[in-house]
Formats: sequence, structure tokens, C-alpha cells
Amino acid sequence: MNIEKYREIKRTLPASVRLIAVSKFKPASDIQLLYDEGQRLFGENKAQEMKAKHEVLPQDIEWHFIGTLQTNKIKYIAPYVAMIHSIDRAELLWEVNRHAEKNGRVIPCLLQFHIAQEESKHGFYLEECEEMLRNPEFPTLQNVRICGVMGMGTFTEDMEQVRQEFHHLHDIFIHLKDNYFQNNPDFKELSMGMTDDYPIAVEEGSTFVRIGSAIFGARDYSKPVNDL
Ligand SMILES: *Cc1c(COP(=O)(O)O)cnc(C)c1O
Repeated sequence: MNIEKYREIKRTLPASVRLIAVSKFKPASDIQLLYDEGQRLFGENKAQEMKAKHEVLPQDIEWHFIGTLQTNKIKYIAPYVAMIHSIDRAELLWEVNRHAEKNGRVIPCLLQFHIAQEESKHGFYLEECEEMLRNPEFPTLQNVRICGVMGMGTFTEDMEQVRQEFHHLHDIFIHLKDNYFQNNPDFKELSMGMTDDYPIAVEEGSTFVRIGSAIFGARDYSKPVNDL
């Protein structure tokens, strides 16, 4: 846990950019420490882990879901999740809408795009996404609110490449805004930037950065979270 680094990030981010502290694999006690520093937005990538943390931590935390979401796990987050950043297929959006309705909520969502070189990163391609947005059933989804787009850059030292990928995501954002969401003031978020590339993401117009290891330290994937 690096509180100094956290303070430095908070101090240097422009006011237009919100920080999501990515706490996946980290114990609830670490989240509580950062909460005591004033942090309220936390990001998790596993539904059951988010649920367990939500149950033991302060209720005014905004939980942002940032990982691949299986439809059978939506139930663990639907009652309280603040935003789902990782809508990467039509089926998922329809299912989130169904669960949100059951819970009497409207769930804010971002459309995740595939912008990296790696095959392993999830997300829509533009054409696929536009097909979904043109589906005559799309306007009937009353319990999801589409607030913008999300993407992950390639894991590489080549920061010029990462910059181009973020620039591309910004172009996608503008294209969707102009063609599908002109009159929708909710469509305004660009979730991009992690520990290694967030300064570039901010230069390219990010409104949410998702930072984990710079704040909490390296993750140990071999051990389960130890205090839940
Ligand atoms: C883990 C993760 C992050 C944070 O990564 P760091 O490099 O630790 O900052 C951000 N976004 C997503 C989608 C992640 O899965």
C-alpha cells in the first residue's frame, strides 16, 4: 500500500478525471485504509469478490465493475454496483437490464471496446457495437444507462502505440456520441488508463482512470483475498 503515491496521483489528476482505485485481489483492510484517506470509488473484476467486500465495507463506496462478466454472476452485483465498465456483448447488456429491472434500478454501463493488439483483451469491435445500437429492441432497455466507453491499451513499452489506441477509443466515443447519443447528456465517459499508461490516457481525454498496483502494490494472484 503506497499512500504517498495515492496522494500524488490525486494531486496531479485534472479535476475532470475521476480515480477508480482498483482493489482486486487486495484485502478489505487495504480498501478501508484508502477509504479513510477519502477515496470512494473502487474497482473490482470478480463478481463474488465485489459482493463480499461490499458486505463488509462502508455503504457509501461506489463499486465499479471492470472485469469480464458472466451472465450467471450479474446477480452478485446488480443490487448495488455503481457502474459496469465492461459491457462487451449485446447479450450481456440485455441480461444486465433484466437484473436491474428486478432490483428496481437503472444501472450505468460503459461499452468496452477492443483497442489493443492482444487477442486476449475483450471488447466490441465498432461494427458489432453499432449493430447492437441499431437493434430495434435497444431503445426498450429502460434499466441500463449507457454512459460512454471503456478500453485497455496493449501491454507494451511502446507508449506511442498505446497513445494511438487511446486516441482511437476517443474517436470511437465521438463517433457514437454523434450518431447514437447526440441528445443524451449521460453519454460522456471515457474509461481508459491504468498504472503504466494513465498519464497518456489523461492527455487523450480520459474521464475515469483505473489504477491498482501503483496504489496497492503488486498483486499476488496465487493467494485468495485473506480477510473476507
Ligand atoms: C487490473 C485492472 C486495472 C488496474 O491495473 P493496474 O495496472 O494495476 O493499475 C485496470 N483496469 C482493468 C480492466 C483491470 O483489470
